[in-house]
Amino acid sequence: MNEFTDYFSLRSSTMNACSMTHDARDKARLTWACSDGPHAKPGTEAVDVYLQDPAPRDKPLNFVMFGGITVLHQELLDLLGADNIERDLYIGRVYGRGGKLLNDWVSARGRRHLILRGSREARYRVCAGCGRVLYSAMGKQYLYPAPPTDAAIYESDLLGFVVTHDIAERIAARKWRRISVDPLPVLDEPLDGLGSLPV
Ligand SMILES: [Zn+2]
Repeated sequence: MNEFTDYFSLRSSTMNACSMTHDARDKARLTWACSDGPHAKPGTEAVDVYLQDPAPRDKPLNFVMFGGITVLHQELLDLLGADNIERDLYIGRVYGRGGKLLNDWVSARGRRHLILRGSREARYRVCAGCGRVLYSAMGKQYLYPAPPTDAAIYESDLLGFVVTHDIAERIAARKWRRISVDPLPVLDEPLDGLGSLPV
């Protein structure tokens, strides 16, 4: 039996996303940020983020508006498993206002990236600047095709992560108000009529 059959979407439901400093945005445009939109180029690994804020306001999962880089509080990181983090994530540092290193926050990028597919009003385009597939849809969320089975934590295109069942259970048990943990079926056929995307 496949060890990774059940997947869950982790999303931040913060109303207080983080902002990066102007300097950091300028530097990002010269490095990891796409010239065509405020997203990270494919293949971007660890990113250090410099916030205008003293620290992210809502834990344990938040994100930086420019670039959509996710930031995780140490309490969430502790539930992911050291082996999974080592294998699946690229971890960067988070600096608060005035360049102060925040020891209880990290940024995280996934080695594996998944697009959460939808059922209605779905469309996608391939970014002219970096080749990234930019997808949007309404309705029921699911995965298609089945993800590669060499990971337990995947970056999702919705400012969050996809994780396997045991990790999702540990996170749901904490009952954090600002994170949603939703089951994500793997379908044999996509409901959006778009077939396989050119990932
Ligand atoms: Zn792009």
